[in-house]
Amino acid sequence: MKIKEDLIEKEIVHKPTAYRNFPMVPRVIYGRGSISQLGDILLPKRKSTETPIIFLVDDFFEGTELYLQLPLMFNDQLIYISACEEPKTAQVDALVNKIRDTFDELPSGIVGIGGGTLLDLSKAVAVMLGNKGLAEEYQGWDLVKRPGVYHVGIPTISGTGAEVSRTAVLLGPDKKLGINSDHTTFDQVVLDANLLKTVPKEQWFYTGMDCFIHCVESLNGTYLNAFSKSYGEKAYELCKEVFLGDCSKEEAEEKLMMASWHGGMSIAYSQVGVAHAMSYGLSYVLGTKHGIGNCLVFKHLEDFYPEGVALFKKMLHKHHVQLPKNICKHLSPTEMEKMIAITLAMEPLWENALGKDWRHKVSPAYLESIFQKI
Ligand code: NAD
Ligand code: ZN
Repeated sequence: MKIKEDLIEKEIVHKPTAYRNFPMVPRVIYGRGSISQLGDILLPKRKSTETPIIFLVDDFFEGTELYLQLPLMFNDQLIYISACEEPKTAQVDALVNKIRDTFDELPSGIVGIGGGTLLDLSKAVAVMLGNKGLAEEYQGWDLVKRPGVYHVGIPTISGTGAEVSRTAVLLGPDKKLGINSDHTTFDQVVLDANLLKTVPKEQWFYTGMDCFIHCVESLNGTYLNAFSKSYGEKAYELCKEVFLGDCSKEEAEEKLMMASWHGGMSIAYSQVGVAHAMSYGLSYVLGTKHGIGNCLVFKHLEDFYPEGVALFKKMLHKHHVQLPKNICKHLSPTEMEKMIAITLAMEPLWENALGKDWRHKVSPAYLESIFQKI
């Protein structure tokens, strides 16, 4: 051991890099109508007739025929949840308490159906069912020590990559930060493009742009490596086909679904960048939702991402999307300060975007000048 240390010190042997060992979603089913196989997928996971599966579903689907496709059995529960606001730590705690109070044993599984909001909420609930304390105590990296319960993700809108990522982004009492852990990743994902049919156009664009921006930030970041690049380039090309090409609605749905997956895989082994750091600030102070927040910021980031911003503007134009204006106009100086502080606290994102000496390359005054344009 001593010899090895000496050799490392003399730079005869390179110090081994501590590579991160990431989990991936172990099982995925892909295809239109694949949700019909959910019953078969869940059956072997049911521990007994007393231990239910809890379905957490975006309330957009309340009263729709999706209900007929859900394999509810025994004392399973179906809970509709609004995605109007991004998921909060207190909301996770309330759901976990409700489930613990209703049943004597832990459920057999959690199934989350919806966009990034429902997917993150479901991941967080599954993790917290296996762990003590409050969700806010687990916001951060690798704070979860025990596995949660089995959890399945079924996306109904494409772009965030939440279906594939090892984080559940939550708004807590003092920060917006994910529960990043090996136990967060879904055990099973169902990719059924039929579920995307009803997504409204503007929301399709905003959430889809989240994927496009993930790719731009990953591909232009200092953390880039061949692993991230291979996924990021694929997702970037798919986004260009979907938003600037000439595909049918069905083709576009399927391509964006896979772009979302690849974009999520790309950032797993790199990081996002300036747009996400600033969008987190907007979201924390004004409650602006992730997809639209990214778009609002990204439009003004040509200094950092000239090619990506030019393509983004073409996409906006092609799809006649009008971004809201004057979002930051009425902010008080204290709110602006908070927004900038939250933005600058996203250190890994800045380091990925601008390198280790990022603090010399961005100032609060510069960030304020961009926020003022939004
Ligand atoms: P969302 O889940 O917030 O939903 C947006 C809107 O679309 C809602 O009104 C919802 O009801 C509606 N909707 C969803 N599916 C629909 C359908 N099939 N038909 C009609 N309406 C539908 O949207 P999102 O952009 O997917 O998710 C945003 C969230 O994702 C944010 O909370 C963000 O923090 C999170 N996020 C997570 C990750 C991650 O890796 N975990 C990555 C990026 C973003
Ligand atoms: Zn994002």
